[in-house]
Amino acid sequence: MTTFSYILLFSFAAMIINTTGIFVMQKNESWTIKNKEYFMCFAAGVLITSPLISAFPNAVSNNANAGIAALLGFMFMFSVNRLIKSKTNQQELAFGITALLGIAIHSFVDGAIYSVTFHVSTIFGIASGIGLVAHEFAEGVITYSVLLKSGVHKNKAFFYAFLVAALTTPIGALVAYPLISTLNQSTLGLAMGAVSGVMIYLSASHLLPSVKSEDKHHSYIAFGFGVLLAFGFFFMK
Ligand SMILES: [Zn+2]
Repeated sequence: MTTFSYILLFSFAAMIINTTGIFVMQKNESWTIKNKEYFMCFAAGVLITSPLISAFPNAVSNNANAGIAALLGFMFMFSVNRLIKSKTNQQELAFGITALLGIAIHSFVDGAIYSVTFHVSTIFGIASGIGLVAHEFAEGVITYSVLLKSGVHKNKAFFYAFLVAALTTPIGALVAYPLISTLNQSTLGLAMGAVSGVMIYLSASHLLPSVKSEDKHHSYIAFGFGVLLAFGFFFMK
């Protein structure tokens, strides 16, 4: 399989899992809210392990300034998600729109990550891609909930959530692809550093803190499973 077909496969899988999140949330809200934690914890395990043991060391070996890029990636996602967080508790549509803008940027960046990681290596693309795809479930659920809170009707909410959170990921991958293809090793190192910062943010600051403490025990098993899986890929390469 070519790099491009891997990127297509994973970014479209992300879109499908995201849409599944929206769909099951619409069908069975209480089940979904309870179970989305497992997806989040599993994704967090993968997304903290891959950058720490593989992506970031790789980035630094290609470019000594990859650490600065990682910090910028982290800060960028921090700002985007502040925008989402500060608005998700509000009920009015105007606030919902700001939150949705944040989610759209976030999902677009998620897509761009596939273009970066698969350019570095297939194994690394797959290892981090599994975590990214898993976190999409919760993202679909969250987006749909934001829309309902903003007073959007169920069926419209489904459609808008799909546009904002699901479709933006393959678009991000496809927009980033031609750009990433032209990068030399050193610049790819910087991109990889930024991606590492984004992944660390997603795991440690976005997914893990939103896991509710009641389900702690099983959530930790899902987290540990994600860590082990990413470790497994690391030794496969
Ligand atoms: Zn995401």
